[in-house]
Formats: sequence, structure tokens, C-alpha cells
Amino acid sequence: MPNDHDADMSTIPIPTPDEAREHIRALIRFIGDDPDREGLLKTPERVIGAMRDFFAGYQSDPASLLERTFADTGGYDELVLMTDIEVYSHCEHHMVPFVGRCHVAYIPNGRVVGLSKIARVVDAFAKRLQIQEKLTAQIADTIEQTLKPQGVAVILEAQHYCMCYRGIRKPGSMTTTSKLHGVFMDDPAARQELFTLIASQRRSQ
Ligand SMILES: [Zn+2]
Repeated sequence: MPNDHDADMSTIPIPTPDEAREHIRALIRFIGDDPDREGLLKTPERVIGAMRDFFAGYQSDPASLLERTFADTGGYDELVLMTDIEVYSHCEHHMVPFVGRCHVAYIPNGRVVGLSKIARVVDAFAKRLQIQEKLTAQIADTIEQTLKPQGVAVILEAQHYCMCYRGIRKPGSMTTTSKLHGVFMDDPAARQELFTLIASQRRSQ
């Protein structure tokens, strides 16, 4: 299975579903509740199901999602911009959600990809244990390496729940990260045009 994650290097065996359920039961004990009370009996099973969904990105190879490209663009080599792709990820420090929106822009170099594929790449990286900076860079770098566009920009705005309800408690604060390649990196005018366009697109919603 394609997987570029460090966990591949681990010598710890992957627990069976039964063992994973026992670990969840132990964690319920750890926080001070009783895994055998009625309301919690099915919780380990549900938690495992939820984790399979939250972290489904480990089962996918994002670069392969962009393999099918279309050259029949009618000569279109202007900006392609997708704004407000929903992002649901988990911080790798606390395994607590961070949620937000991702804006992806690229200028084709003769080839384009289906827009849904861009959203799937975002999802494939988001559904892993992440830090926002790495997530942003992985999305941009994958588009850069597979599509080889004239430029690519990924901007991610997210709220980190681990900062909301624990630690320094800053509810509502957003973190913005960006990763730029090609013309967006090299040409300040192209970059300014992009940011203006994203701002106007968001206002018109
Ligand atoms: Zn965190």
C-alpha cells in the first residue's frame, strides 16, 4: 500500500481490531470512566470506526489521484482557483481536530486535472496526523510535482481545537499558512492578483 509515512518504520506491530478495542477501553479507564457501563459498551467499536474515517488518508496515494490529466484545454493557461475546500484534520501533537478551509490555485502548463481530484488530494493529506504547515506544503508540492504547472498556491486557514479548549485557550483564532511555487513565488504581481481574487470570491459568497 502506498504510504510515505514514518510509521512504516515502526517495529510496533499493528494491533488487531480486538486489541485496538481493548486499548480504547483502557483509555476510558484512564480518563476515569467505566468502559462496562451501558452507554460506553459500544464506544470502543465506534471510536475505531471513526478513526478509520478520520485517518483514511493513510490508505491513499495522493499523487496517484492526479495521474489522469487532460491536455484538451482549448489553450487555457490562465488561473484555475478553487476556494473554500473544507478541511478536517487532526493535529499530530494532541490528536485533536483542526478544521478550516483551503484555497488552491494553479496556472496550467498545457494540462489540467478534474477539480474534484484537487479536493481529494486535500482530503488524502488532511486525513492523517498533521501539522498545518506540513499539510499545506504537501498539497502544494504534490500538485507541483505531478501537474508541473506554471505556478501553484495553497492557502489554508484553520482553527485548532487544541488551542480552543485546552492549553492557552484562544477560541476563535485562525491560523493561516501558505505554500507557493512557480510564478506565485517569483512574481509579486501574480501573487497579489491571486490574493485579491480569493478575497473577492470569498466576499461574493
Ligand atoms: Zn494540537
